[in-house]
Order: sequence, then structure tokens, then C-alpha cells
Amino acid sequence: MARNTILLDADDTLWENNIFFEKTIELFITQLEHLGYTREYIRHILNETERRNVRQHGYGVRSFRRSLEDTYLKLAGNSSRKELVKEIERLAAELEATPPHILDGVPETLAYLAKHHRLILLTKGEAAEQSAKVERSGLQAYFDHIEIVLEKELSTYERLIGQFKIVKTHGWMVGNSPRSDINPALRAGLNAVFIPHTNTWALEHCEIESGLGKLVVVNSFRELRSHF
Ligand SMILES: [Mg+2]
Repeated sequence: MARNTILLDADDTLWENNIFFEKTIELFITQLEHLGYTREYIRHILNETERRNVRQHGYGVRSFRRSLEDTYLKLAGNSSRKELVKEIERLAAELEATPPHILDGVPETLAYLAKHHRLILLTKGEAAEQSAKVERSGLQAYFDHIEIVLEKELSTYERLIGQFKIVKTHGWMVGNSPRSDINPALRAGLNAVFIPHTNTWALEHCEIESGLGKLVVVNSFRELRSHF
């Protein structure tokens, strides 16, 4: 097979991410139950708050912590307590300190892919937070480049195609998010490999749209080996 350029998503593609956020959200909701709202309603308000904060402050733990605090302050109103705000800060700090949990088959598959292709890690979020995760994962040596961006949209992929002189027919994006990894890459003319993750963040859900490139769906990271 010819040498390809393979862009790889990180969160929930190389390592678990969303399950840790979900665990924090469950603990957060439990802390707020005394206010008298249902768990579903608290979650709904949090989702709305996250949607707004992501637009304003981007992705990552700090934006998430702000969303938890905003949600609490909104629901508690005048009865908000300083101790609970402190507890929310503690939950967010614990989340940030969680060691990366690499998904099954990832290191050996990356080792194989890196021998035959050019690999670029493409992740969105805060630069300091994401590069700390990459470093702690121990996987950076497999990549020719690490790209940390604020958002993964059509213009992001077009920029990378130019910057890395990617030949589109030999360019691939691999990831778990239809919204950020698959659809914009296909629209930019790259090929894509969708690896669904059972716990993909609600804000990343959307229908897969067909694009110019080829789309492959696999069930595990390990299966990439049979395509490259
Ligand atoms: Mg992801």
C-alpha cells in the first residue's frame, strides 16, 4: 500500500475521555439533588450551559468547570453556598488529574501504522491541557506532528491539507466523532475512518454525511491494521 497521511483524533479514539466527564457529572448532579430538581432537568441545564460555554471558552476541563459552576449558580439562585462551589472545583481538579486510560490495541496498532505511514495527531481543546494528556499517554513518539486546535471544522482540515501538503486521495482522518472528525474531513476531500465509541459526548453526535472521500467504519482501533 502507498504511504498515506493519517490524521488521528485523540479523546475517545486513542484514550478514554468522556466516561471520566460522565462520572464527574453524576457526582455533580448528586450534589445538587437537594435543590429539588430532577436529575434529568439538572443534566438538561448543564448541557445547555456547556453548549454556550464551549462557543465562548472552547473545550476542556476549565470550560467544563465553568459550566458546572454556572449550572449550580443558576439552579441554586440566592441559596448557593460557597462550600459547594469549592466541591465543584475539587471535582474538576480530580478530573484533570485522572491518568490517561489508553484504549485496547492502540500502542501496537500505532507502532504498526507509524512504520508505513505519516501519522498526525489532531485534537481539539486547550493547548496546555491537551499536550499534557499527549505527554502522559506516552504515545507521542508515533506521531510526526501533534496538532492542537480550538475547533475541528472544514477550514481546519483545509488548512492542514495545505500545511502538510496532504494528497487528498492518500489522506485519512480517523476518529469517533461524526461532527468533528468525520463530516468535515470528508467535506474537505479526505477519506475517513469512523470508529464509534459507545460513550461519545452528546455534543459530538450527528448524522454522518457523505463527502468527496471514502468512508470506512471499523469497530475497534486494532482493525485499522487491516485497512492500512
Ligand atoms: Mg474524540
